[in-house]
Amino acid sequence: MIVQKYGGTSVGNATRIKRVSRRIAETVRSGHRVVAVVSAMGHTTDRLIGLAHRVSGEPPPRELDMLVANGETITAPLVAMCLQGLGVPAVSLTGPQAGVRTSNHHSRARIREIRPTRILEALDQGQVPVVAGFQGATEDFEITTLGRGGSDTTAVALAAALGAQSCEILTDVDGILTADPRVVPEARLLRHIAYEEILELAAVGARVMHPRAVEIGELYGVPIHVRSSFHRRPGTMIVSEVPMEDRNRVRGVAHELGVAKITVLGVPDRPGVAAAVFEPLSRAGISVDVIVQNVSSQGHTDLTFTVSETEFPQALRLVELAVREVGATGLSQSGGLAKVSVVGTGMLGTPGIAARMFRTLAEAAINIEMISTSEIRITCIVERDRAEAAVRALHAAFKLDQVPTASGAPV
Ligand code: ADP
Ligand code: ASP
Ligand code: MG
Repeated sequence: MIVQKYGGTSVGNATRIKRVSRRIAETVRSGHRVVAVVSAMGHTTDRLIGLAHRVSGEPPPRELDMLVANGETITAPLVAMCLQGLGVPAVSLTGPQAGVRTSNHHSRARIREIRPTRILEALDQGQVPVVAGFQGATEDFEITTLGRGGSDTTAVALAAALGAQSCEILTDVDGILTADPRVVPEARLLRHIAYEEILELAAVGARVMHPRAVEIGELYGVPIHVRSSFHRRPGTMIVSEVPMEDRNRVRGVAHELGVAKITVLGVPDRPGVAAAVFEPLSRAGISVDVIVQNVSSQGHTDLTFTVSETEFPQALRLVELAVREVGATGLSQSGGLAKVSVVGTGMLGTPGIAARMFRTLAEAAINIEMISTSEIRITCIVERDRAEAAVRALHAAFKLDQVPTASGAPV
């Protein structure tokens, strides 16, 4: 059994839906049982969100989910009817019909459980289940969505729940590249990437995979193959260990626009203050990113962190309350920022990568506002308008366009 997920561009119009259906039909005829997961056509999700904002200043999260889930609900029956026309029995299922149960965090729900009874029934009857990605329902049948790019997560979670042999993510690029090819035309296809590397890349903006999909894939050992829906050449395998020649270096550069920064000023330096600021954000399901706390002077510190611009207004309201509660002196904020990151397991124990990153940005006259690191990632917050220049400069500085040698390319 194989789960195939087709992204928005791949199902963007009638011709493409027919082509995708032929590919599913071929996979079935080659002897596989196939579960298809589909995204909304083309820019449908963006259009629906835009529409919501034209009729409502701040669309209520529940209604927004009711609205945007429809994108996927349209694609699934179109693919199912096309398959039937090709002589392949198929049935479309919404996320809830497919048994996707989620938390109740609208627009960023997490899959709690999958009860795939209907999928298994369809497979038993020789049908291809065509599941609408991105959507699910809570225990109370409230419709939820999994966050932008969440159809990947539907696919990998289904592959895990069904014990599928693999999950194919079929998209509009050749696989996972060293950077977004829209920003860096020389970006190179990576044949293999470690779960932890693509997880870090995805978490800091590489749109090609939804981070939660990678997490679930690693947890349940689902082999994930990210490849083009437009041709048959192999793409990128996400694996536990990358081959020797791919270690020992930076593997990719990612960027994310739409970052905002909040600073809580004059925070009293005592236990429990950071918790009081971050707990309300966590309860609201807002993820906080790069966090920096200054060295205390005269019993007070400043606490700065980033959130995504879409969650900025809500985060500000919650932090304003916390500021009063903890007795901080004030708040400063700015939007229009971006995150630029370099990632690679080879960074572990390789000195000089941070220095090279900072030097490269300095030479491009790009100011670094904040820095954060993990063992295999370095992230800099920069002005949004400079993010793409930063990505191109870093891609060149780390020679990511060159095929690594057997010993791993020097950094
Ligand atoms: P789909 O609709 O198939 O899910 P997405 O738009 O979500 O496709 O993701 C694919 C896009 O991700 C590509 O078109 C590319 O612009 C972008 N992208 C960003 N970083 C990378 C990367 N490192 N490798 C490949 N694609 C990337
Ligand atoms: N349609 C949703 C989005 O645009 C989910 C997806 O494509 O994976 O984010
Ligand atoms: Mg996607």
